[in-house]
Amino acid sequence: MDMDAIDLIGGIDVGGTKIESRLFAGPEAASIAVERTETPSTPAALRRAILDRIAWLDGRAGRAVPVGLAVPGIPDTGTGAVFAANVAFGAAPLGPGIAASAGRPVPVLNDGAAFALSEARGGAGAEARVVLGLVVGTGLGGGVTVDGRTLPRHAGYGLEIGHAALSAAMAERYRLPLRECPCGRVACLERYVSGAALPWLSRHVTGAEVPNAEVLDAWADILAEGLMATLFAVDPGLVVLGGGLSGLPGVAERLAAALEGRRLGPAALPGLRLARFGPTSGARGAALAARDAAC
Ligand SMILES: [Zn+2]
Repeated sequence: MDMDAIDLIGGIDVGGTKIESRLFAGPEAASIAVERTETPSTPAALRRAILDRIAWLDGRAGRAVPVGLAVPGIPDTGTGAVFAANVAFGAAPLGPGIAASAGRPVPVLNDGAAFALSEARGGAGAEARVVLGLVVGTGLGGGVTVDGRTLPRHAGYGLEIGHAALSAAMAERYRLPLRECPCGRVACLERYVSGAALPWLSRHVTGAEVPNAEVLDAWADILAEGLMATLFAVDPGLVVLGGGLSGLPGVAERLAAALEGRRLGPAALPGLRLARFGPTSGARGAALAARDAAC
């Protein structure tokens, strides 16, 4: 199918508390309709809700449209089941079940991957061949695209950067204790620099709950060091920063400065940009993946 023929596409971003469904139009994938509903707490109700959202998208479009799902977890490439900490997806395959009921392929991708795909295609990362999307929200996640496509996945470890290890140098510099992570590992990066961890980091550095400049400098330093581990593996041309924390004043500048100090000899570091589509990116990336799957 010719890509230009698919002018309407749908994306459903399943979050911990709400489901955002959006219809996009045209080659630019501009958002033209949005609906937000609560995320049900049982797997059966969640599947029904997702099918209802697909029906809503079809209704707005006036016909069946390609639809993709963004999820806050790891879609198993073998079984299709989604492993997530805070959404009740259940053990049954999500994508294949939804696809069978909806009568079309329904790609399921991690919300960090959806964010990266959206920003690489017409967003803040559009100029770079390799884009690293970094989402600093309640947790810390991300995704990588090459030439506007997500990388093929083996199992879903890429790009769970939030569960990469805190650098020993940073642990020593800020005298950070090794914090346990709900994932079962110890000293995961998101236990120090995610939005949820920021009040803890603030108390640790200054004793105050509200982060000041000193805390934000430490935050940028620790995150930049974690990011370096990813750069050694991925080498993107641009890092696009999104998530709730990226909206704080000075955060992007601090992270860029902390990265710049880590240059290896003459090797250029990637540029750092704030996301263009922000919170729309989960649904938009899922919709673009659906368009790819339909072409
Ligand atoms: Zn972890």
